[in-house]
Amino acid sequence: MLPLITGGSLSAILTSVLRPPEARPDSRVETGYPAGLSAANGYGVVDTRRPVLVLNDVTKTYPNGRDALKDVDLVVPEGDFVFLVGASGAGKSTLMKLLIRDELPTRGTVTLDGDDVARLPRRKVPMVRRKIGIVFQDFKLLPRKSVRENIAFALEVTGTPRRKIRPAVDRALALVGLTRQAEQYPNQLSGGEQQRTAIARALVHDPRIVIADEPTGNLDPLISWEILQLLLRINELGVTVLMATHDADIVTALRKRVVALEEGRIIRDEVGGGYHRAG
Ligand code: ADP
Repeated sequence: MLPLITGGSLSAILTSVLRPPEARPDSRVETGYPAGLSAANGYGVVDTRRPVLVLNDVTKTYPNGRDALKDVDLVVPEGDFVFLVGASGAGKSTLMKLLIRDELPTRGTVTLDGDDVARLPRRKVPMVRRKIGIVFQDFKLLPRKSVRENIAFALEVTGTPRRKIRPAVDRALALVGLTRQAEQYPNQLSGGEQQRTAIARALVHDPRIVIADEPTGNLDPLISWEILQLLLRINELGVTVLMATHDADIVTALRKRVVALEEGRIIRDEVGGGYHRAG
């Protein structure tokens, strides 16, 4: 059973965004990108769901001349679950950095929830970053803060009123199943519990999209599956998930949308795909 979420916008997401499974084609469809980005979404059909993330002809060239991304078109509709795969150096981290405006595209646009990320006035950057929850391979928890304090900190730094912090943290703790560990410190937790804490921190401000960069990279296979189950459950609640991974077993078993990068280009965008191209 899913923990009950009340009061926050996650519950609004639940009622307004969840779509019946039949609205999500699950047959395997290879796509190029047909004319019109509204259709260019890996499903090979026009998708009427609202795009959360749109990369339009994005190229990123670093100052040393290295093209980390080349002519990338990508549309991620609301509620999607996308695996981003590719060898080391393929451009996965660069793509994620563009989303949070850690880097700016050299050419093309990155649109998050309708906002062109590169053109945002500086004062709006924190607002847009709040629409993204980030989960890292190495958890990045603050060692001197408890589980509860780590999660609360994400709200404190964005100036959330104190009275709103506790209920939001309690909801996030319940969602990841860590209510009983709330007062423990990171070094008292297993790797899986640390990653669940990091996921709660990513979710606490009700993001539109969670981006997870190799979230299972430091975990053994059984715990990796637990973390995946949690991300899937969050996705079922309507939160879009973009996960970069090298975990071929997970990608192949789950048959979600797979976007494969190679030397900065998308070479495959396939719904229900495996880690490797079939055949
Ligand atoms: P991945 O996450 O798939 O391993 P990256 O996005 O980290 O790939 O890197 C893509 C390419 O861009 C690589 O060739 C990498 O060496 C290069 N690169 C990444 N960051 C920088 C940077 N700050 N300056 C110069 N080159 C970079």
